[in-house]
Amino acid sequence: MRSETIYLDHNATTPVAPEVYEAMVPYLTREFFNPSSMYSEAQRPAHAMTKARSQVASLLGDIGADQIVFTGCATESNNHAVFGCMRANPKRRHVVTSAVEHPSVLEVCRAAEREGCEVTYLPVNGQGMLDIRDFVRSLRPDTLLVTLMHANNETGVLFPIEELSRITKETDPNIVFHTDATQTMGKLPIDLLGAYAHVDLLSFSGHKMYAPKGVGVLYIKRGTRIRPFLVGGHQENGRRAGTENVAGIVALGKACELAQAISAEDAARIHRLRDRLENSLEESIPCLQINGKQAPRMGNTTNLSCHYIEGEAILYQLSEQGICASSGSACTSGSLDPSHVLKAMQIPFTALHGSIRFSLGRYTTAEQIERVIAVFPGIVARLRRLSPYWNQETNAPKE
Ligand code: PMP
Repeated sequence: MRSETIYLDHNATTPVAPEVYEAMVPYLTREFFNPSSMYSEAQRPAHAMTKARSQVASLLGDIGADQIVFTGCATESNNHAVFGCMRANPKRRHVVTSAVEHPSVLEVCRAAEREGCEVTYLPVNGQGMLDIRDFVRSLRPDTLLVTLMHANNETGVLFPIEELSRITKETDPNIVFHTDATQTMGKLPIDLLGAYAHVDLLSFSGHKMYAPKGVGVLYIKRGTRIRPFLVGGHQENGRRAGTENVAGIVALGKACELAQAISAEDAARIHRLRDRLENSLEESIPCLQINGKQAPRMGNTTNLSCHYIEGEAILYQLSEQGICASSGSACTSGSLDPSHVLKAMQIPFTALHGSIRFSLGRYTTAEQIERVIAVFPGIVARLRRLSPYWNQETNAPKE
């Protein structure tokens, strides 16, 4: 009997925090007015958006709030970043990215190639890390844009954005530097006036940080050459057309305020739980590989490969126990292709299909982690008994 759902898929989405929900509700009900309307009632949602913009700006290091553009999601922000730069500067036709970006960057880069751009996809090593020398060599006189993610959604591996953006600007201040910070916003400090001052564009999504789905941000540093992606309206100072998702924007502002108040202490607690999970599973499961373990990575994520079995089969069995996790990226589930991230890391074939991602969050408890520790090794052992590859490898008697 399932007593409780254990949600360990926070890199896919997070629940809306109760405080966030409370803050947004009035803008779905009595304060429903269009913030662009002329009557005085419409001033209230307009002011609420101004406040939300300052709350977001404050979490990014107290930057000027005029640089925050509200979008529909991180996917839109990433599309805006790449296509917006291409349209603003057609003379430069070279883009640098990595092989492990989220599809909302990778697919957009492929579309950019079809529109005549040349794209360098930087490889990563077995731990998911970039080689800085490769990066330096990739920059060219016609490079328009560098777009590299802050943390990988599948493995949690961090790219050194401070260093990469500094190198970019030292090489050529006219190259635009974009980072997809969807997995780090609200979890790691990002100071756009300090260590991250060389970043020109930064994307993230509300629903990865305890706000609802359907709202995102593109930070656009003042003076950056970029055109709008959505046109047909004056909203967001002419940078993103379409009536604003006021309730979502208010919610995102509140989520940023909450993240500022609780993130350091909470991040340490989550990190300890993740380490406890990894250490226990490593002890109890033979042939278990933790992908990206040697790299700097997010403290909430663990990506495990169980050699010789299928990730989907593990997910199914976990789900039977009320445990929600993910194999590869949630965005690619439905396809049985192995993860492009693990493939780029050259994870061996026997481990590629057996990968599981647990991503912890604000409401994850020690009891929930203990429950996973109690059931996961049994699931792996059962599936391996049924696996011809495992039996071949270990010469274990077949069932
Ligand atoms: N970038 C990264 C790194 C992500 O993890 C995600 C969501 N999985 C996105 C972009 C896209 O976010 P959204 O679905 O909110 O557009």
